[in-house]
Amino acid sequence: MRVIAIDGPAGSGKTSVARAVAGRLGLEYLDTGAMYRAVTFAVLRAGGDPADDGFSEKVARAVDLRVEQDQVFVDGVDATVEIRGRSVNRAVSQVAANPGVRSEMVARQREWVRRRGGGVLEGRDIGTVVFPDAAVKVYLTADHAVRALRRTRQDGLADAPSLSDGGLEAAAVEAVAADLARRDLIDSTRRAAPLAVAPDALVIDTTDKTFDATIEQILELV
Ligand code: C5P
Repeated sequence: MRVIAIDGPAGSGKTSVARAVAGRLGLEYLDTGAMYRAVTFAVLRAGGDPADDGFSEKVARAVDLRVEQDQVFVDGVDATVEIRGRSVNRAVSQVAANPGVRSEMVARQREWVRRRGGGVLEGRDIGTVVFPDAAVKVYLTADHAVRALRRTRQDGLADAPSLSDGGLEAAAVEAVAADLARRDLIDSTRRAAPLAVAPDALVIDTTDKTFDATIEQILELV
C-alpha cells in the first residue's frame, strides 16, 4: 500500500500540502483532523460534555462520518462550516485525547486506505501510529506566529471585512495564536498518540518556504 503521511501542528499548512501532493500523484487524500472535528461536532450536537470520555467514545463508534474532499457530513448533516467553528475548536483536542475515540478513528482511517490501496493522509499521528510503515513521512512545521497568521487569513475568507482593518486583523491573529498554542500543548502532551516527529520523517519548516517549493520537496522524496 502506498501511504504518504503528513503530520504536524495546527496551522502548519498540512491540508493544502496534502491536497496538492495527492493531486499531483493521482491519489485521494484524507484530512484526519476533520474526523476528530466531526466527532466533536456530534458530541456537542447531542448535548454531550466533551470531558465525558464514555459518552464521546460511544458517539465516535456510532457516528456516520463522510469526510469528502470539500465537505464533511455528520449523520447526514452537512457540518463543513461548523466543524471549523469556535465551539469545535475549543473542544476538539479534549475529544481527540480520548483513547476510545482514537482507536475508532484509527480503525476507520486504516479501512479508508485498505479500500483504496493507498492515499495521502494528514494529521498528528499518521506516521507514528496509524501507518508506522508509510512509504513517505513528512512532518510540516512553521514558526508559531506564521502559522497563526496563515490560519487567520485562511479562516478570514468567510469574514473578509474584519481583515481589511489592520487593528482587527492583529486582534484576530492574537486570538488564533492562543487557540493554536492551547491545542498544540494538549495534542503534544496527551498520553494517547501525542503529536510527535516520527524518527524517519522528513521535517520541513515552511516558515520561509514557498508552497510550491514544499510540494516539490515532497514529490522528490516520493
Ligand atoms: O488538523 P486540525 O487542526 O483540523 O485537527 C484538529 C484537532 O484534531 C487537532 O488539534 C488534534 O487535537 C486532533 N487530531 C488528532 N489526530 C489527528 C488529526 C487531528 O488528534 N490525526
